[in-house]
Amino acid sequence: MVKHTGAQAALTVEYTSRHANNHMLKVVKDPHIEAVRNIGIIAHIDAGKTTTTERVLYYTGVSFRMGEVHDGTAVMDWMEQEQERGITITSAATTAFWKDKRINIIDTPGHVDFTVEVERSLRVLDGAVVVFCAVGGVEPQSETVWKQADRYRVPRIAFINKMDRIGADFFRVVEMMSLRLHAQPLVMQLPWGEEEGFRGVIDLVEMKAISYDVATLGVQYQREDIPDHLMGRAREYRERMLEIAADHSEMVMGKYVAGEPIEPGEIKAALRKATIGLKAVPVFCGSAFKNKGIQALLDGVVDFLPSPVDLPPVMGLNQGEEEAREVNASAPFSALAFKTMNDPYMGQLTFLRVYSGSLKKGSSVYNPRKEKRERIHRILKMHANRREEIEEIYAGDIAAVLLKYTSTGDTLCDEDHPIVLESMEIPKTVLSVAIEPKTRADQEKLMQSLRSLAMEDPSLKIHLDEETGQTIVSGMGELHLEIVVDRMLREFLVNATIGKPQVAYKTSITKRCQVEGKFIRQSGGRGQYGHVWLALEPAERGAGVTFVDKITGGTIPKDYIAAVKKGVLEAAETGIWGGFPVVDMCITLYDGSYHPVDSSEMAFKIASSMAFKKGMREEGASILLEPIMSLEVVAPEEFLGEVIGDISSRRGKVAAMEVRKATAEVKAEVPLAETFGYSTALRSLTQGRGNHSLSFLRYQATPAAIADNLLSQYRTHT
Ligand code: GDP
Repeated sequence: MVKHTGAQAALTVEYTSRHANNHMLKVVKDPHIEAVRNIGIIAHIDAGKTTTTERVLYYTGVSFRMGEVHDGTAVMDWMEQEQERGITITSAATTAFWKDKRINIIDTPGHVDFTVEVERSLRVLDGAVVVFCAVGGVEPQSETVWKQADRYRVPRIAFINKMDRIGADFFRVVEMMSLRLHAQPLVMQLPWGEEEGFRGVIDLVEMKAISYDVATLGVQYQREDIPDHLMGRAREYRERMLEIAADHSEMVMGKYVAGEPIEPGEIKAALRKATIGLKAVPVFCGSAFKNKGIQALLDGVVDFLPSPVDLPPVMGLNQGEEEAREVNASAPFSALAFKTMNDPYMGQLTFLRVYSGSLKKGSSVYNPRKEKRERIHRILKMHANRREEIEEIYAGDIAAVLLKYTSTGDTLCDEDHPIVLESMEIPKTVLSVAIEPKTRADQEKLMQSLRSLAMEDPSLKIHLDEETGQTIVSGMGELHLEIVVDRMLREFLVNATIGKPQVAYKTSITKRCQVEGKFIRQSGGRGQYGHVWLALEPAERGAGVTFVDKITGGTIPKDYIAAVKKGVLEAAETGIWGGFPVVDMCITLYDGSYHPVDSSEMAFKIASSMAFKKGMREEGASILLEPIMSLEVVAPEEFLGEVIGDISSRRGKVAAMEVRKATAEVKAEVPLAETFGYSTALRSLTQGRGNHSLSFLRYQATPAAIADNLLSQYRTHT
């Protein structure tokens, strides 16, 4: 199901902003970069990301006009209803305040299959809160995201949620973090009570027990002495925490060795260093649903996660040269557009992360990739329940603007100091579907929705098939296209017929060949004369198509050579069978002839395309290339045999296999064409207990028998 965005939630529910607690009263007005935290909340589906985010927004000052806070049940009911409807009160970035700090919460996708979405959010956030379920622990999906966060060097804190559930086991999850994620968990709190009896947390820095008031939905909480029966364990874990702190601060080390008291501020400063240096992951716990532990988690965000200045400067390219931009409000302006989304009131909003300099309302900025100047009419901060217009935005911060030309992944900069920031890698599209709108009005809606979706998601490609008149949408896989089509139908209300997904095959040759192409018509009047000799050579996988001109001594004039190049490249694009493009080939023009009167660019274009097609069909031993996907499956060990058998029946090859604590992990390579409906198949193979992810790996030759079968329909037409 597609979750609704914050903007839509704002339409249906009336909010009023009120300070839920007095931390909110101190709003950061000035551009202190140190006071900014750009964070993401990352979780395995169902771990409680939505609930945690909602509670964070609630405690940071957003309240809802649904009874007073003391009238606990009213608010609670409202929250539960929202929960049931699955509304996420977040936009691409939501700003909240906590203890003098501005926290920008960047939305992260719930499903890790959208690698590009995950990478995009990891690219712009500085730190993350990873939510685990106290019962489920570290799920395979969390492992995937964890690895990505490692790759982007994102400092993290962990929140072990659902401590109130039956079977909750804090220490097991901590252990899983070190075993499965190879992380160094840094236990900051112990749970106070468990399952039904979960009351709150033991704070190991202050050595106090915190209990949360049920009547005020946890807005009020008390600090008490640690109950005797928990004291032993609390001392043990505080000791472990101090050891890590001592490793990162000489002062703490000195005091620790001398047995002197260490101030909470000193401990936190040392642990902050450890967290930002990716040496430790502070672990918090609570129950978002039962309103316990969220404020302490927010303290953790402020205390341990980095501000933009704590991280290295951003890198980019300035006219081919690498350049670093300091996170500094007085440096030349640079920002990355990391998300565009449709807002029912404002239209297309572009979310910017400013890396250096500042941006004033009314000024102009430059988009080097599009070679366009953009005027900034408005700058908006998105809060959970309102939009705030601001005059200026500074390095390190995040805001939304309205732009004309900029799409996701583009850089905006000062025109006098141009730079292109490292963008996200956009994966290849390997699958497409044809979409046929039902009416003329739908055709217009379709184009509008697709334009909007493609602005949001650069991994989506759209084109019109001129032969069939169909609109073709291409994406990264079955699930990706399913979600896009679903949004098109539901959000944009397009009435259309959707074709079956088609694999993006490609073709190439395996043998060098030399071919002649002649297009000569000389029967009265001005004729046609084009004549070329081409050499076609196979190139490495991924090399694309290159054209080499080896004409000497004016055998063919320059203008006609350009026409030959155009002719072969166009022919390569549409290919010879089924419109599958030709790739991985070097085409050399080495000979030919021309006629002073009858030759034309058109004649050379046709002659070269004829030669190319002849080579592909007759001489070059053509092959069909298919996308191969990397498949990762995690399932209980008892289903391992079935999973592997099924992979083989899909022409798949198992590359690695591991069994840990009765859980099997299989890594395999499977042709995309054989993966349709895999989610359903795996569910039935494993009684719903298997998980998988699929991502594009490479193109590879399709076995001859399968290719022949597939191509027979096209060959008969050619
Ligand atoms: P998401 O998929 O990660 O966004 O998870 P949600 O926040 O939608 O939560 C999934 C389910 O777990 C919902 O039914 C929540 O009510 C429930 N849930 C979330 N947090 C807690 C918690 O702390 N305790 C319990 N018992 N249930 C929770």
